[in-house]
Amino acid sequence: MTETLGPRSRKVKILATLGPASSSPEMIRKLMLSGADAFRINMSHGDQASKAALVDAIRGLEDEFKRPTTILFDLQGPKLRVGQFADGAAQLENGATFILDRDPAPGNFKRVQLPHPELFDAITEGARLLVDDGKIRLKVIANERDRLVTEVQVGGRISNNKGVNVPDVLVPIPALTEKDRSDLQFAVSQGADWIALSFVQRPEDVAEARALIGDKAALLAKIEKPAALDQLNEIIALSDAVMVARGDLGVELPPEGVPPMQNRIIATARQFGKPVVVATQMLESMISSPTPTRAEVSDVANAIYDGADAVMLSAESAAGQFPCEAVQMMDRIGTTTERDPIYTARIHFTKTHLEPTTADALAGSARQIASTTSATAMLCYTSSGSTARRIARERPPVPLLAMTASKTIARRLGLLWGVHAVHTRDVSSFEEMVAKSRRMALRHKLAQGGDRLVLMAGVPFGTAGSTNVIHVVRLVGDELSSYKGTDDLAGQ
Ligand code: PGA
Ligand code: MN
Repeated sequence: MTETLGPRSRKVKILATLGPASSSPEMIRKLMLSGADAFRINMSHGDQASKAALVDAIRGLEDEFKRPTTILFDLQGPKLRVGQFADGAAQLENGATFILDRDPAPGNFKRVQLPHPELFDAITEGARLLVDDGKIRLKVIANERDRLVTEVQVGGRISNNKGVNVPDVLVPIPALTEKDRSDLQFAVSQGADWIALSFVQRPEDVAEARALIGDKAALLAKIEKPAALDQLNEIIALSDAVMVARGDLGVELPPEGVPPMQNRIIATARQFGKPVVVATQMLESMISSPTPTRAEVSDVANAIYDGADAVMLSAESAAGQFPCEAVQMMDRIGTTTERDPIYTARIHFTKTHLEPTTADALAGSARQIASTTSATAMLCYTSSGSTARRIARERPPVPLLAMTASKTIARRLGLLWGVHAVHTRDVSSFEEMVAKSRRMALRHKLAQGGDRLVLMAGVPFGTAGSTNVIHVVRLVGDELSSYKGTDDLAGQ
């Protein structure tokens, strides 16, 4: 039986990572019904063929629900790892000496390979090497070119291919590995809506990926290296969205350093009008428990109060025991937080200054008009998505229904705060636009008879970047009953 999936009763979006616990079409369907708006396909695990099956499943559901659905491919990036051990692992004692070298021979408690030749030139004495999410901490006491001699500051069990973070150096490694380049081509061939770039360090990293992606997908920069924070504005300016990737960021920075950076990244992204995703460990305990901790619920709520566009689930939905419950929990936190009377004041704590453009003047005014007239929805036509982004940046008091003739743009808009995108035919006149907006608002249950709507459009029609009209309409009672056609094209 087909269920319809209209606009959500919250403005924040839910991005759910798919994985072994959520790879069947039935499970993905349940996640959508539970509230997932967008899906992350993580290229750090599994092969390309299994990812193609996920894309097929999502596009099938998109047809069924007639709802544009967002797919984000997350490239692994230059994740550094140690080599292998003779026994699969070794025990490192505090205070011992441990060596990382270029020798691929299996390691032991005295040494292991570090299969990244570039690092031997870059790592300086005193630099820290954090292994396995920082569980093991090594300090470099000598760099002998072919060997990094380290002192074990915090020991433990180190095993094959564990990740290494080097927060103290700008790693002289390209942002895209061979694997990333292959995965990027694959993602584009699969019709990825967004491609996420991991371990971005410099604006050049974003530019390099952009040159490969072109306009075939939108680009999200994951902020998880302290180096990226030094050029945050430049990186955000070049990206289409950013992610506060707290997993790796919290290894490279002390954990208490992450919340101020999360606030800074959210505020900066909002200033630029670029969507910002808060990610990692949001409902971590739900990997193995049907209910989250109170602290986790507060964390999700606070990201929403700060005005994040989307909140993300990682292992909770990809590999946990309760993927649907985790999505439902986020959905409830979103709805409840946004109903709090203080919520509006809280999101506007971050002041976004209008830029001297027609688009911003209209977006700011439309928000004001929606509020003054107690309209129930805003509607706009958008061809590049830009009008919708500038309106969403204003964090208006009502949902925005964004109509676009581009299926790709409709899908990309799925990460944006408060935007419900609809793929539909272009209109050719102002009258047609108004008539269609009225129908759409009713059909998507954003209004009923007597309600006001705020419409935005560009006249003449069909010219990108020409939004220049705000129009307020009031619906009459039986408007929808006279209309029998269908306008939604999602999935076609
Ligand atoms: P990851 O990125 O899950 O791909 O590592 C997110 C993070 O580091 O927080
Ligand atoms: Mn990461």
